[in-house]
Amino acid sequence: MPADTRAMRIEILNTGTELLLGNTVNTHAAWFGRELFKLGLRIERQTTVPDGEAIREAMAESVARADVLIVTGGLGPTSDDLTREITSEVLGIDLITDEAALRSLEDFFALRGRAMAEANLKQALVPVGADVLPNANGTAPGVYVPPRLNGRSHCAVFLLPGPPRELYPMVHDEVIPRLRALSGVETVHEALELKFTGIGESDFHQGIDAKLAAIPGLEYGYCAHIGEVDLRLIGSPEALQQGRAIALEPFQNFLISEDGSSLQATVVRILTEKGMTLATAESCTGGLISHRITNVPGSSAVFTHGFITYANEAKTGLLGVSAADIAEHGAVSETVARQMAEGALRVSGGDIAVSVTGIAGPGGGSEEKPVGTAWVGLARKGAATTAFKIFHPRNRQDFKLAVSQAALEAVRRSLVGL
Ligand code: ATP
Ligand code: MG
Repeated sequence: MPADTRAMRIEILNTGTELLLGNTVNTHAAWFGRELFKLGLRIERQTTVPDGEAIREAMAESVARADVLIVTGGLGPTSDDLTREITSEVLGIDLITDEAALRSLEDFFALRGRAMAEANLKQALVPVGADVLPNANGTAPGVYVPPRLNGRSHCAVFLLPGPPRELYPMVHDEVIPRLRALSGVETVHEALELKFTGIGESDFHQGIDAKLAAIPGLEYGYCAHIGEVDLRLIGSPEALQQGRAIALEPFQNFLISEDGSSLQATVVRILTEKGMTLATAESCTGGLISHRITNVPGSSAVFTHGFITYANEAKTGLLGVSAADIAEHGAVSETVARQMAEGALRVSGGDIAVSVTGIAGPGGGSEEKPVGTAWVGLARKGAATTAFKIFHPRNRQDFKLAVSQAALEAVRRSLVGL
């Protein structure tokens, strides 16, 4: 096997009719991607096929192309579980009953006081010369067919069970050590994920792309979300540091995190470090800001009050917003956003409060205040209240997300003194 990890082609074949009917999301594919990346390995290609005969063609194609093929599912005792049989045919290696695998199957049933069905016998069949991978959590043992078997050279093949509680431990105990040995990986590339908010993806790209491209050995990519751009850097530690410096030079103030932490996790972390408490007063986001905050473990130490004041009476009754000001300026206005934030700060007795009020649409817009308009207010103990307007004409859910992002970013900026 080549020592260069990029030269080792790894393919994944996920089997299961439920994966293609949309009943079950193929989480194995993503899980393998993450686990192998930690080893410095990449999946070149991933295929999903239904149970049964369809595995044959997919497997034949993969073993002709790849150095390593990892197959999940289809190791059960039922008639549509054909992975074992088809592997033997595709690789041209006979199946034999593995005595140790048979004994552990018998033990599995004996331990549970159940009789083993005839159909389970086939779960002890393995290609001649292959390794049996013990399964402590189920009946189907895994199988490893090494790349050089019986004097012939071919693709190395792992056959693994479908249920996650059986698959995951087997991969860690049996598959990863073998992959390490096969690839001879010495230098594992590292990855860095920098999250930014408050800048558009194209401005971000334009600001740094040419400079990143000039760093030797650096692989990089962008991922845009609502109100956020992620920069993914992969390479040697030196290349990562160079890439990081290039991104931070113009965009340091927009950085949320360098370890993949979300904006809300960053806000909770800073509040915790400063020993401060936060309150929210939400209209158009309907509680999304407090939901995001309370998704973060440890938020109870820093988050005290989340007001959802959707109706005007709620704004006046709970937060003391002036009914006259609502009548004069409208609920979506700078003055109402300010009064909401100040009301939340006063009632909570905390250190900082953020408010949002906006028009999600599709109805309710006007020429002066079109759908997508929102005001964000920020009140801090001992400081002047501020407010700013944003405009995100999107569907309701995306609008709410964009507004919540702007509000959390306003809190973050205020906390770090920007
Ligand atoms: P066996 O357990 O006998 O090896 P199998 O692996 O095909 O057979 P199934 O009964 O088909 O097992 O699947 C077991 C469980 O694992 C099911 O809940 C199935 O949806 C889930 N599963 C299988 N493959 C995947 C996958 N790629 N992603 C997420 N879940 C999966
Ligand atoms: Mg299956």
